[in-house]
Amino acid sequence: MKVGIFGGTFDPVHMGHMVIAEQVMGELGLARVVYVPGGIPPHKEASSVRASAEDRFEMVEAAVEGNERFSVDRVEVDAGRPMYSVETVQILKERAPDDEWFFISGADEVSNLLAWKDPDRLLEEVVMVAATRPGFDLSKLGHLEAGLRNFDRIFPVECTRVDISATGIRRRILQGKSVRYLVPEGVYRIISDRRLYEGDEKRSGQGGRLKEETR
Ligand code: ATP
Repeated sequence: MKVGIFGGTFDPVHMGHMVIAEQVMGELGLARVVYVPGGIPPHKEASSVRASAEDRFEMVEAAVEGNERFSVDRVEVDAGRPMYSVETVQILKERAPDDEWFFISGADEVSNLLAWKDPDRLLEEVVMVAATRPGFDLSKLGHLEAGLRNFDRIFPVECTRVDISATGIRRRILQGKSVRYLVPEGVYRIISDRRLYEGDEKRSGQGGRLKEETR
């Protein structure tokens, strides 16, 4: 069975994410996609992540509800420390070693693959799917060829351009604008109920987690 891993900060998860997961799944014939929200993403400053790991996890949980091929995994959220993708995929693969694993990422992030931890080892573990993002020129991946043994394990997939980013959503909320329909309905409800992203301070439904995350 072919399985996709979709890692991200998901701060918050939005329709751009849902569209690429759905379309990559269709293009590559994946049986399912596992979303893996990062607890403390190693590539981002802890202070730049606005919602708590638990809130971000619950938003993804709400987003995937009703799609039996989508699920969300707690492995990074529960780790309580930064985890690199190469480590995450090894843990997930151990649970289902007979499956064929694909790592879904935006093409802009894949173009930065040489800065990831152990990219060649990661490419031994998974096929890297570079989902195109608005404004991205696929020839920008060419420079990776010289730096990677396993360059041929990168597979670009053209997806419908959805010009939504988590940064744009957080900005709209700060400006008092609606983000309804930019995120799945359940995510919109969590954002509204918990008043996420409304102020400069991090907010969370679970205060205890917040401290852990910023440590
Ligand atoms: P931010 O704006 O805070 O950087 P983001 O919207 O890029 O967040 P992430 O959680 O960092 O969201 O993204 C997870 C993955 O999804 C990344 O690989 C990113 O490149 C990709 N991605 C995010 N939004 C889109 C989009 N609209 N189209 C295609 N890929 C996307």
